[in-house]
Amino acid sequence: RIIAATPTSPQEEAIERALRPKQLEEYVGQEKIRGQLEIFIAAARNRGEALDHTLLFGPPGLGKTTLAHIIAREMGVNLRQTSGPVLERAGDLAALLTNLEANDVLFIDEIHRLSPVVEEILYPALEDYQIDIMIGEGPAARSVKLDLQPFTLVGATTRAGMLTNPLRDRFGIVARLEFYTAAELTKIVTRSASLLHAPIQPDGAREIAQRARGTPRIANRLLRRVRDYAEVKGNGEITKAMADAALIMLDVDPVGFDLMDRKLLEAVLFKFGGGPVGLDNLAAAIGEERDTIEDVLEPYLIQQGYLQRTPRGRIATPSAYQHFGVTAPKTGAN
Ligand code: ADP
Repeated sequence: RIIAATPTSPQEEAIERALRPKQLEEYVGQEKIRGQLEIFIAAARNRGEALDHTLLFGPPGLGKTTLAHIIAREMGVNLRQTSGPVLERAGDLAALLTNLEANDVLFIDEIHRLSPVVEEILYPALEDYQIDIMIGEGPAARSVKLDLQPFTLVGATTRAGMLTNPLRDRFGIVARLEFYTAAELTKIVTRSASLLHAPIQPDGAREIAQRARGTPRIANRLLRRVRDYAEVKGNGEITKAMADAALIMLDVDPVGFDLMDRKLLEAVLFKFGGGPVGLDNLAAAIGEERDTIEDVLEPYLIQQGYLQRTPRGRIATPSAYQHFGVTAPKTGAN
């Protein structure tokens, strides 16, 4: 996909970092989480303690990494960043943990992909700020307890349901990030355009926002592609017409669905008669991984009311039929 939901190159990541809000105040939307964090951060700071361990979950691109950085900054501490799949051995995590300073934030992205041995090390670290490590090998091996500085684990995951119960239970703060409204994304696009020195009209920003799948990362990415288009095809100013023409070129349709969204919906509608269809069959039909369907594609289609998840499989809703200009059968499976 042209507009992937995850960063695709180091250059992309650098641009993302530049567009990242640095303070809670600048962080658009997610009012509930923001309100809670404001209080918990202020309280922890006043007591001179580490913030409680925090779990952030929701689809990619909604601002989990951004929020982790903001938490560290508002707490006035360092942030160390890693991810579940990168931490292969227990020693990798032990090295990170023993290097933390008092009240630091350790950010683990994709925390549902920690290996069981690494997760074992994490439990006592989270609970008592201690780890058990093995020194030596064979009969001479012995276990040593090490004290850690108090710290905050911020874990991010696309699906809270993928976490083991003991791990989930160790988070004092659990926050689910929601898709953004068009108004919120308009604010984000406008702010990013100004950081990129790209001239933009309000209805140009709104057009991009409405077609960004409720996701700031996608909004910022579409903005950059639309800017390219406006510079080459026009005088650089991002108007509604420019945005519309660029988005058509990028295969982003009027409601913001891209090629993969349409491929998925079309498969459910036309290959599987509207459903129900199981995840494996759907994955095979569109040549996409199960995880990508569940984490990236489906959440937005479900939230927008085009798709339903039932115990028997996925079902297309009347809105999905309407989107493709066909009439829904009278006696649907639902
Ligand atoms: P995630 O970690 O959930 O995949 P990120 O935190 O990396 O998402 O966010 C992706 C991009 O979207 C960042 O570059 C940031 O600029 C932007 N972004 C995310 N959330 C917000 C927000 N609430 N306000 C403004 N920009 C945001």
